[in-house]
Amino acid sequence: MKPFAYVHGTTIDEVTGALDAACRPLAGGTELLRLIKGGLAAPERVVDLKTIPGLAGIERRADGWRLGALVTLARLASEGQVGHELPVLAQAAGAAASPQLRNRATLGGNLVQRPRCWYFRDPLVHCWLKGGERCLAADGHNERHALASTGPCHIVHPSDPAHALVALDASVLVAGPRGERTIPMADFLHMPRQEAWSETALALDELIVDVAIPLPAGSARGAYVKAAERAVWDFALVSAAAQVTFQGPVVAAARLVLGGVAPVPWRASDAEEALVGRSLDDAAIVRAAGAATVGLHPLSRNAYKLDLVRGVVAEALRRLR
Ligand SMILES: Cc1cc2nc3c(=O)[nH]c(=O)nc-3n(C[C@H](O)[C@H](O)[C@H](O)COP(=O)(O)OP(=O)(O)OC[C@H]3O[C@@H](n4cnc5c(N)ncnc54)[C@H](O)[C@@H]3O)c2cc1C
Ligand code: SF4
Repeated sequence: MKPFAYVHGTTIDEVTGALDAACRPLAGGTELLRLIKGGLAAPERVVDLKTIPGLAGIERRADGWRLGALVTLARLASEGQVGHELPVLAQAAGAAASPQLRNRATLGGNLVQRPRCWYFRDPLVHCWLKGGERCLAADGHNERHALASTGPCHIVHPSDPAHALVALDASVLVAGPRGERTIPMADFLHMPRQEAWSETALALDELIVDVAIPLPAGSARGAYVKAAERAVWDFALVSAAAQVTFQGPVVAAARLVLGGVAPVPWRASDAEEALVGRSLDDAAIVRAAGAATVGLHPLSRNAYKLDLVRGVVAEALRRLR
């Protein structure tokens, strides 16, 4: 591992003024240190964000929720009011990684984590995303890869919370030397770009300050269901984040976001349309679960994910009844 200097951050302005390819922000460190050890990042300095005051708040304001970049996944999963009003997010945070990791892992760091593709993470492999000529997963071990990517890279986004945040129509507040900007969550995560430093809309000198979520309607319900090989300490094979608003027993609006199927959270729009105007009876759920696979095309070794998609969507919708 290449040695690096460690410094305490003091203010957002000071840190963003210093950030570049050689100076990277450190939050919980559960991802950045692995990237450094694996040769996927090589900063000369890391700046600890945890010493900057005011980045770890959870606030419910009149215009919506504000979740600080340094809020841990453990807090998101356990804060009563978050679980009550934003259950899809609390469940997604609680389904991520392991209890030890969730105590350390922050929301901001979670959104900036890099792909888990085993070829990408192997320091000896130089695949397309790292600047090589081709994607080794395309005709290799693509069991955990995408169903909805046109290539050349077939990663899936590893974050559980990101999918819940798209379902909740969240935005990311970002600060940098050029000021602040707000990026809708659906635009924050980017399709893979060759030799990019991240799969996000962040510039190298920008920080996530917090995540804003509009207040859900009183009749809204949410659920997150994740299928993985292990119940803890594992990334989703497939997941479904459902946020549904009701008018009486009838679905008035639905946002259904699939994980494990695309490089970015994937809106299952045919399934959403199939739900609107219907009550969540068994027939409507079966129809929506079937519609959720529209637009998904397996690679050579991951057709099993289509059944998982139908299963997690049906389970998420059943939990809303
Ligand atoms: C074994 C294992 C299993 C896991 N399983 C899951 C899982 O099932 N689901 C899931 O969602 N995640 C999973 N993760 C990922 C884990 O949730 C992330 O590693 C963690 O959330 C990253 O947060 P952190 O605070 O540790 O980030 P760090 O490691 O500190 O930083 C990660 C990246 O984000 C950047 N960064 C950090 N904070 C900011 C900020 N405020 N603004 C801009 N950039 C920032 C850093 O520079 C770095 O590039 C797993 C990780 C491990 C190691
Ligand atoms: S899926 Fe992307 S990261 Fe994985 S081998 Fe292919 S190009 Fe590399």
